[in-house]
Amino acid sequence: MRIETDAIRTQTERTQHKEHSVPVFMTSSFIFDDAEHARALFEQEVDGNIYSRYSNPNNDELVAKLCAFEHTDDGLTTASGMAAIFSSLAGLLESGDHILSCRSVFGSTHQLLTQVFPKWGITHTYVPIEDTDSWEQEIKENTKVILIETPSNPALDVLDLEKIGDLAKKHGLVLIVDNCFASPYLQQPADFGAHIITHSATKFLDGQGRTIGGVILGQKDLIEKIRFFARHSGPSLSPFNAWLVSKSLETLPVRMDRHCDNALKIAEFLESHPMVEKVKYPFLPSHPQYDLARKQMKKGGGLVTFYIKGGLAEGKTFLDAIKIGSLTANLGDTRTTITHPASTTHSKLSEDERLQVGITSNLVRISAGLENVEDIIEDLNQALAAVESSSK
Ligand SMILES: *Cc1c(COP(=O)(O)O)cnc(C)c1O
Repeated sequence: MRIETDAIRTQTERTQHKEHSVPVFMTSSFIFDDAEHARALFEQEVDGNIYSRYSNPNNDELVAKLCAFEHTDDGLTTASGMAAIFSSLAGLLESGDHILSCRSVFGSTHQLLTQVFPKWGITHTYVPIEDTDSWEQEIKENTKVILIETPSNPALDVLDLEKIGDLAKKHGLVLIVDNCFASPYLQQPADFGAHIITHSATKFLDGQGRTIGGVILGQKDLIEKIRFFARHSGPSLSPFNAWLVSKSLETLPVRMDRHCDNALKIAEFLESHPMVEKVKYPFLPSHPQYDLARKQMKKGGGLVTFYIKGGLAEGKTFLDAIKIGSLTANLGDTRTTITHPASTTHSKLSEDERLQVGITSNLVRISAGLENVEDIIEDLNQALAAVESSSK
């Protein structure tokens, strides 16, 4: 079936009540038929639910949908996107192993790589996002994993999934792709050789800013290792949150179409505005990896990054003049959200440190919501006018 149908018709088996819409299975454990059934379940000789830390019909439904979307054969849900990334690495790696990644990864992923995994002797090298040709020479004997995000946060650089997939294959490495920014509607990294795909369900998958959640998808043998770690360490997703996200997926294709259409219109508007220095959007012809984005993504995504003329002061003025857009750290919401990392999330970093992660003081990131795009553009226009008059 096609994604729009899978999104709606992949459904937990009906109970004896013949409900049309899937109920929430708020139960911590499940009943055994008898002692022999319990033994067989624990020995994994038969399939079935035991305990909601291991599995639950709502969580299984969410995984089944996302496996269909991402062209993967197995997966598990986690309490957050970070639990998905942490569990994937912790489940697959051992002390002494090495990870290849890019400095532009999500902030908490950067903290895991630099502050947490080194405690257990797991090290990393950051390779330049703009020069994938140089990655091969950074692969060491103990390198086990390549961990990437594309498009990247917040600069929206696009990495060549096919090329990196081939590199991983050539060296027998596990390629983990955080597919959060694109969502499975726009890009399926498994088709290019990714072994593990993670999502923060908090973003476009829920898409309504209501819950934190995560998913790990991929090849069965690797998922088994990660599942063992997760079952016994317990970063499980509540069945209620799994139900919520699974319900949200019914509208993922229609929501993403609108997010992307609005984002493209916003990007085009910003590109034509005299107070804007530069716009980064994967489906704008001015994007340095425009052709690559067209090749591996169905549409350009819901995020737009732009560089306002000026610096820290202009960024702050712009943010304070916004009337409709929400000033919040989340993204992938029905509501347009706007962030100016240099004065908010990354204000503790020095200018040099910010530049290392691609955050200039005039960078603004917009997550295009589902409001009427003309209203959003008018809001951005009046905020840019406020910047213009303040700098006169
Ligand atoms: C938000 C985000 C995460 C972390 O997800 P949480 O659900 O907040 O734990 C990881 N990667 C990317 C790209 C994200 O945007």
